[in-house]
Amino acid sequence: MIKFEHVSKQYERNGVTTQALNDINLTISKGDIYGIIGYSGAGKSTLVRLINFLEKPTQGNVIIQNKVLNQLSSTELRQTRQKIGMIFQHFNLLESKTVFENIAIPLILIKKDKHSIKQKVYELLEFVGLSDKANSYPKELSGGQKQRIGIARALANDPDILLCDEATSALDPQTTQAILDLIKKINEKYKITVVLITHEMHVIEQICHKVAVMEKGKIIEQGNVLEVFGQP
Ligand code: ADP
Ligand code: ADP
Repeated sequence: MIKFEHVSKQYERNGVTTQALNDINLTISKGDIYGIIGYSGAGKSTLVRLINFLEKPTQGNVIIQNKVLNQLSSTELRQTRQKIGMIFQHFNLLESKTVFENIAIPLILIKKDKHSIKQKVYELLEFVGLSDKANSYPKELSGGQKQRIGIARALANDPDILLCDEATSALDPQTTQAILDLIKKINEKYKITVVLITHEMHVIEQICHKVAVMEKGKIIEQGNVLEVFGQP
């Protein structure tokens, strides 16, 4: 499903080289909820950008759904990318658009017809429990509600993979719990593979099956959550 083979990534900026990832080997199987944990600067966001095809590896292979990233045509790249949904720490909703329009964006981009867009958006709104908010604007929503809309948008293209980048870091503990429960439900109901980036251990302990611990661009430990962190 998601495989990193000896992946390294260097950034070059103003003559300075930063080794963001250093020989990463990682296999995330279909249906996993896989946590990636590490301090700021460990390389987590770079890893996400490689999965989402926003960056290319300097060395090694990134393989998504049996497709080697570096060998894809731009059409294949776009198609594979459409099957990856993403949610963010600060939700990344468009403030000038309604909730309905925000969720519809990925569907408009692939030129779905109006009727199926409407049907899909209302189905997603119902799934995330916000059917009454279709015509609201993001600024009228709480953080937890905004993240539910972010989730609905991420699910619009029926993704195979859901990438969660610090998706609960801006939320209070109770709201965090509700969002984690929703992510778990998505994983169980739709069999979507979840990759969850966080610096918070309790988030990993609550919903992840497996975890990789990153430090300075390397994975220093990986395995089942209980093996890596021990019994709670
Ligand atoms: P994390 O998400 O764990 O905080 P990042 O992947 O953002 O880690 O960063 C890993 C390292 O790569 C850091 O040293 C960071 O400064 C550097 N880095 C990240 N993105 C860029 C970039 N676009 N250009 C230059 N350096 C970068
Ligand atoms: P930009 O080029 O300005 O970063 P994008 O075209 O990448 O914008 O994204 C447009 C909107 O869709 C943004 O709000 C962004 O957060 C969101 N978005 C981007 N990629 C994804 C994705 N894979 N899943 C869900 N939302 C996404």
